[in-house]
Amino acid sequence: MSECPRCREKSITLGQVTVPIGKTRGKRVNVNECVGCKLLFYEAAEE
Ligand SMILES: [Zn+2]
Repeated sequence: MSECPRCREKSITLGQVTVPIGKTRGKRVNVNECVGCKLLFYEAAEE
């Protein structure tokens, strides 16, 4: 689990999405939500 980039609290992973890069490529990322301040942030998914 990653720590929140804003308040350093723990985060939970909501799931993975693919973020488009240009027209043909995409990148898998984890969507995390901070348990403290509810910030949503992305993190590169482990391949
Ligand atoms: Zn936070």
